[in-house]
Amino acid sequence: MGSEPRKGKVSALILHYTASPLPAALDVLQGHKEAHRVGVHYIVTDEIRPRVIQLVPESKSAFHAGKSGWSNLEGMNQHSIGIEIINLDGNVHPYSAAQTEVLFTLCADIIRRHQINPTEVLGHSDIAVGRKVDPGILFPWAKLASLGVGAWPLRDEVAQYLQAPVKIKPDDVRKLLAAYGYRIEPGEAGLKSAIEAFQRHFRPTKVDGIADHETIATIEALVRRYRPQTLRALKIKP
Ligand SMILES: [Zn+2]
Repeated sequence: MGSEPRKGKVSALILHYTASPLPAALDVLQGHKEAHRVGVHYIVTDEIRPRVIQLVPESKSAFHAGKSGWSNLEGMNQHSIGIEIINLDGNVHPYSAAQTEVLFTLCADIIRRHQINPTEVLGHSDIAVGRKVDPGILFPWAKLASLGVGAWPLRDEVAQYLQAPVKIKPDDVRKLLAAYGYRIEPGEAGLKSAIEAFQRHFRPTKVDGIADHETIATIEALVRRYRPQTLRALKIKP
């Protein structure tokens, strides 16, 4: 229930918040409600001493991502390990230091065992653009990246781009986000949703879907660090 045989290799780690307290989350994720058909590999609790509860073996694909995509990967359930973190709303309620520490240890172990790239440690909101907002703007992406889990732009490079005038054209924002991995629907609304998803993860202080100078500088620095060939292809000088 909530899982199926895995057909391929694990190449991504997807993080969520439950939007419900532990008992309710367990009820749904353990598949007691047949209609839901949801599942996830791990839950990280929000107790004073947070625990990791495993619900699905990593060798199976769990139903946590829904319709989703990233880079050249389609339908992320088959390609990922999923972690649900107990938090009612990660856009409102901070993740505790204790919870972050337990989560870090779990993520680091999964990443090491499956050789997952930093750019493939993602939020549900990154892989289901316009549909999901978890794990939310208060998720400690920067903290985890500083410990070696997930991607983050170099601060100096963001500052460098911020000092210079914006060189890239609006259409290049779409190309850079797509090159980094985001799935972008056509049209302005599609781009706005993708910018919002990007901001939620990498510039959480302001999520408005507008490609302001800081947002563009952050995208450029991130792409420069992890997908440098893209900058060259777009003729954007690093
Ligand atoms: Zn989710």
